[in-house]
This record gives sequence, C-alpha cells and structure tokens, in this order.
Amino acid sequence: MHGSPYASVEIVSERQLTISKHSMVEGIMAVYLNFLSLLEDSQRDGLTGLANRKAFDRSLKRLLTTASAQDTAQDERRLATGRKNWLAIVDIDHFKPINDSQGHLMGDKVLIELAGILRRSFRVQDRIFRFGGDEFVILIRQTAPQHVATSLERFRKNVEGYLFDASIGTITISAGYAKITPNDTPTTIIGHADNAHYYAKEHGRNRVCSYDQLLAEKKLRTNEIAANLNNQ
Ligand code: GH3
Ligand code: MG
Repeated sequence: MHGSPYASVEIVSERQLTISKHSMVEGIMAVYLNFLSLLEDSQRDGLTGLANRKAFDRSLKRLLTTASAQDTAQDERRLATGRKNWLAIVDIDHFKPINDSQGHLMGDKVLIELAGILRRSFRVQDRIFRFGGDEFVILIRQTAPQHVATSLERFRKNVEGYLFDASIGTITISAGYAKITPNDTPTTIIGHADNAHYYAKEHGRNRVCSYDQLLAEKKLRTNEIAANLNNQ
C-alpha cells in the first residue's frame, strides 16, 4: 500500500489456480486492498501522516483490554521489572502567535516537522498520534518510570534544539504524562496526563511533568484535578 508492504495474504489451493480463479482472487485482493486503504486513511491525520484521534481511542481501549487480560499472568514479571504503559500529552508552547505572525501555512509546516521529531524521538513500539490542533499524544509501551521520563525529556530537548524555518527559529513544547492502569477508564487516564500537562503549562512551559510525581510532591490537589477535568 502506498508503495510499501502492508499485509500479506496466503492462498491455499490443492490444485494450481485456473486463469478464471486466478483473476477472481486478484479481484478479491483489489477490493480488500481498497478496504484496507479506506480504513488506514480514516485513522490517519491528513497533515502530519500520524495516526489520528480515532485511532488513539481504539489503541488505548485495546491496550487497556489486553493489559487487564495479561495482568494476572504477568503480575510477578511486571512487579519485578516495573515496566508499565504510559500516556503522554504534548502541545506546542505559544503556537498561536506563530500562526498569527507567520501565517497558517507556516504553522502547518511546524506541525509537520514536529511530527518528524516525534517519530525520531521514540521507539517503534511506542505509538504517536495527533490528538488535534497542536496537541499530540504518545502511548509509551512497557517502560520503567525512569525511562519514560528520560525519553520525554530527550524529545523536549530535541524540539528545543531544532531550528525550524529561519523566520520562526526554535520552539518549545510542554508535556504531561501518567501511568496507564488497566482498571482506569480512558477518561481518567487522559485526565491524569492532562492535569500534569496543564501543570507544565502553568509553571513555565518547556517542561515535562509526571502526574504521579506531582501527586507525591503534593503539587496537584484533588480539587485542582476535579476543576481541570470539569473545564475540559
Ligand atoms: P499554549 O502555550 O498555552 O499552548 O498556547 P498556544 O498559543 O499554543 O495556544 P493553543 O495551544 O491553545 O492553540 C493552538 C493553536 O493551534 C490554535 C490554532 O490557531 C492552531 N491550530 C490548530 N490546528 C491547526 C492546524 O491544523 N494548522 C495550523 N497552522 N494551526 C492550527
Ligand atoms: Mg499550544
């Protein structure tokens, strides 16, 4: 698909296919490929080529289902390694002024290049989505707490050090992340990451904040969390 391998189909037949059966198989393959292509396009963001919000909703739901199914079996191993799944929310700092002063097209260029930095900054097993506007979400898979902090910090520095168009110079991002616990709902998990993200925005921007750490340090209070969730 789009010039690269996407899926493979094995056709088993006891006898060599006749010409008519062969063309029937080709016809089915064409319909199937068309179907896959539509499915793929409906889950992709047209500007950056990243997976879109719809794909994110499905992925998070699937991750929660498989995580709770595997939880019992892997409990001991999980405890030993401390590896967990994480959700990070990232958004560009002061993006609106870029659009206002340089135009929407230049704003689009920044979003496309930022998507490139995201792709280069995370592992293939992590999944990156454009959530909407200048907001991106990353599902960071099977990673220990210290490594999730390191990889988000590395991404933050990659953005800070990247020279966009000469008229723009450099930009920064703020990020918040939270653990994906199988018993939580997607709304709760997104709410946790969003609260950490909101804290990063409110406390100087160009920083990465952990929901768990903010709670432990009593920098987030329960009423603050509830207020932020109500404002969404
Ligand atoms: P903050 O530091 O608080 O994040 O402020 P901000 O200026 O980045 O403001 P905010 O994140 O609230 O606004 C995001 C802006 O992104 C609003 C809108 O003009 C712009 N935007 C949303 N989608 C697109 C898009 O597809 N292309 C372009 N060029 N701009 C977009
Ligand atoms: Mg922004």
